[in-house]
Formats: sequence, C-alpha cells, structure tokens
Amino acid sequence: MLEIIQLPVLNDNYIYLLHEPVGGKTAVVDPALAQPVLDELQRRGWHLDFIFNTHHHSDHVGGNLALKQHSGCRILAPQADSHRIPGIDQALSDGDKIALGAVNFSILATPGHTSGHIVFYADEEQVLFCGDTLFVMGCGRLFEGSPEQMWQSLQKLRALPPQTKVYCAHEYTLANGRFALTVEPDNAVLNARMGEVKKLRSENIPTVPSTIALERATNPFFRADEASVKAAVGQPDASPLAVFTEIRKRKDKF
Ligand code: ZN
Ligand code: FE
Repeated sequence: MLEIIQLPVLNDNYIYLLHEPVGGKTAVVDPALAQPVLDELQRRGWHLDFIFNTHHHSDHVGGNLALKQHSGCRILAPQADSHRIPGIDQALSDGDKIALGAVNFSILATPGHTSGHIVFYADEEQVLFCGDTLFVMGCGRLFEGSPEQMWQSLQKLRALPPQTKVYCAHEYTLANGRFALTVEPDNAVLNARMGEVKKLRSENIPTVPSTIALERATNPFFRADEASVKAAVGQPDASPLAVFTEIRKRKDKF
C-alpha cells in the first residue's frame, strides 16, 4: 500500500520517499538535501506532493525550498516550529490527521530533542517516521526539551503496536548499541542484535527500520522502568524518569 524508499545522505541521515500507488501521491520525510530526492523522483517518474518535516534542524529541512520551488509541493511541519520551518504551508499539532492519498497518518507531538518535534504514524500500515526522537537503540539529544518531556514522548512511542516499523532519521545504531551494552551487558536480545548490526554495518547495509518490539527489548531509553536497567545505573529504587535522566546523561558523555 505504501512504498517506502530510503535514501542515505550526508554522514548518517536517512531521507524517506513515500509513495501511495493508488492515488499516485508522493511525500518526502525530512529532506536534508534536495538533489538526491529530485534524482530519485525522476528515476521513478513520481511527482512530489508533500514534504513532511519532523523538526526544524537543517539536516531535516535543508531541501525544503528547492523541492518546493521545483515541484510546488506543500510543506507540512510542526506548528510550534512554524517560524523556523522554511516554506511551511500547513502547521501540524498533536492528534492531527493527514492523508497521503489513501494512507492516513496521525501526528504525535514528541518534544524533547526540540520543543516542537512531531512524528508521523501511519495507523493502518503501522509505520512510524520519528525523526530524531527515537533511534535504533537510542534517542535524540535533549537540545530544547527536558528529560521529563523526552521520557513522556518515548512512552508514547513505546505504546504503539509492537510490530510497528520504526523509520528514524539517522544511522546511529552501532554507537547506540555499544552504549546500550554498557547499561545492559547481560541483555541476550541486545547482544544478539549487536552481532547482526555489526555484520550489516560492515557491509554498509542500513540497520533501519527497526520495530517497536525490538526497541522495547534492546533500547535502554525505552527500558528505564525495567529492574535490570535501574540496577545497572545503581538506582534500584529510583523513578523511571530519574533512571532515564541518568542514562541520557551518560550517553551524552559516552
Ligand atoms: Zn535534529
Ligand atoms: Fe537530525
């Protein structure tokens, strides 16, 4: 129903081209650059209808204006970031619904990495485009939000159906996994996954998408309320928020 094309750009960014074949509608999520998107559109004979931005950072909106100029596409982006999203046409807030042809997306607000960050969740397809909020075995740095905001945002994503595919905006998996192992060295699923991740990266194959289920089993930032993680940071009786805050602090210094 929804074709998803993953374009690796810059050092470690992923741009996603989404194509709904029935209505022939196409969107791009977080175009860091315009040219790789234009090349791919041309190769496939697709016309760009929408840009979806998760947040205002330049490695997510860098291609906005050139793509809009080229295609006349509409730019949908967070309401809270309206003043700093180049070319924004439609401002999105938590709970909004948008459509790419026959595919419906729900907008969830996930502040933390930035104050206005949103994610795009296709309910029926069970695919999530989460920008820099959730990464494979990691989460975004807290540039504008508080640990409490990010912990709440991650809990929102953690509650999505387990089979949901997670398309994040960066290939940070190897470094994230190495850090995750310092928190939970005895997590068997994590260890097995790191084996797979190392093999994939040695062949330059993306480790994205992940799934919510896999993140629940291996992502320390999803697991701040697990006894094993609380114990690992030496705070067996601390609140999940305190544990999350401590893990985030450690990762910043890792
Ligand atoms: Zn960012
Ligand atoms: Fe980014």
